[in-house]
Amino acid sequence: MNVTFTDEELAFRDEVKSFFENDFPQDILEKQNRSVALSREDMVRWHKVMYRRGWAAPNWPTEYGGTGWSTVQKYIFADEQARANAPAFLPFGVSMVGPIIYTYGNDAQKQRFLPDILEFNTWWCQGYSEAGAGSDLASLKTRADLDGDHYVVNGSKTWTTLAQYADWIFCLVRTNTDVARRQEGISFLLIDMNSPGISIKPILLLDGEHEVNEVHFDNVRVPSENLVGEEGKGWTYGKVLLQHERTGIAGVSGSRYALQRLRKQAGKAVRGAEPLAGNPTFMRKLAATEVELKALEYTELRTLASVASGKAPGPESSILKIAGTELRQQVDSLCVEAAGYYALPYVRDQYTMDSPDSERIGEGAETNSSLTYFNNRKVSIFGGSNEIQKNIIAKHVLGL
Ligand SMILES: Cc1cc2nc3c(=O)[nH]c(=O)nc-3n(C[C@H](O)[C@H](O)[C@H](O)COP(=O)(O)OP(=O)(O)OC[C@H]3O[C@@H](n4cnc5c(N)ncnc54)[C@H](O)[C@@H]3O)c2cc1C
Repeated sequence: MNVTFTDEELAFRDEVKSFFENDFPQDILEKQNRSVALSREDMVRWHKVMYRRGWAAPNWPTEYGGTGWSTVQKYIFADEQARANAPAFLPFGVSMVGPIIYTYGNDAQKQRFLPDILEFNTWWCQGYSEAGAGSDLASLKTRADLDGDHYVVNGSKTWTTLAQYADWIFCLVRTNTDVARRQEGISFLLIDMNSPGISIKPILLLDGEHEVNEVHFDNVRVPSENLVGEEGKGWTYGKVLLQHERTGIAGVSGSRYALQRLRKQAGKAVRGAEPLAGNPTFMRKLAATEVELKALEYTELRTLASVASGKAPGPESSILKIAGTELRQQVDSLCVEAAGYYALPYVRDQYTMDSPDSERIGEGAETNSSLTYFNNRKVSIFGGSNEIQKNIIAKHVLGL
């Protein structure tokens, strides 16, 4: 495996680096550095900056406005994005539903939806999971019954990330119950979130953030032209989409730069205390995590080399997902340990959920380390829980 970059790739890296240093909204990077949640406006703004730069869709083919980057360029871009501590793309539009539309959608759907996804004029959310249909997704019960030229949708989705901001939701719905296998009779439907009959109920996560929701559908009428591909083939499309999701969740570059920031912080004396770098127990744990990260980086590069040579990512994406998310959580634990007492979360106003600076105990990143720790418990659950990934490895890699 060759891990050196060509001169062109190195020049590309410099270009991306310079973009994040000079042209990316610095107020947003500053919030990121303090681990402060970005507002809807922040997210729309920075996605539009990427659009204007022509970099809004690293994975899309150029004919739909994608960058046409090689696998290595995509890797370099993601790495520089993580180095700058810039936010990762919101996956729901550009990484999830976009590829499904340009792969399986008809021309009218491509023309209608792709430009707005690219420019971030529409906010998408993902309607797969239901109560009782998470890991066992094929048992989903939300129904879409054809009535003339509309589907009538009834049921509920849950854990729907940022649905409170969404203009559209892509859903797996049951269009046929008279099937031999539960995976059949599921369809992929695009639903306007402003349709009458949709209601949203917030779910607060461990860190107190309103990040996920329940979305309820009560006789929601959806034009049948919003069905993507063939009726009853949604399971096939949905599985393709989950592979995209999984590879992104591993977040290897993000962990690398989080560890580098932590090592730098450990070298500083904070409030007159000895630098953590003098604490052998902590430094041993930090070094052990760095070694694990290095091993994971090589696994990621091996996968990259295989994809660059034209192979589709196989069950490696499951290995990367497990190892990458466990490592991410290990890094979060070290950050909390480094912050010590100052990691204690601030008190939020119980009515407004405001978190005024005056109530913080530690400084920004210290306090937020515990909130990040709590928030990232999710990474081993979503995108197919790590236990489910182990089942995939057992079956498809070990042949058990
Ligand atoms: C923060 C967050 C955001 C999310 N965002 C979205 C979203 O935007 N859209 C969306 O559709 N979904 C979303 N999800 C849902 C996510 O995909 C599911 O939570 C996940 O698939 C697990 O399903 P579940 O929660 O129903 O748990 P369950 O499937 O009930 O699993 C419970 C536990 O049992 C284990 N388990 C289950 N089956 C097996 C098995 N066969 N073998 C071994 N262990 C097993 C699981 O690993 C888990 O530990 C989100 C979840 C979280 C936490």
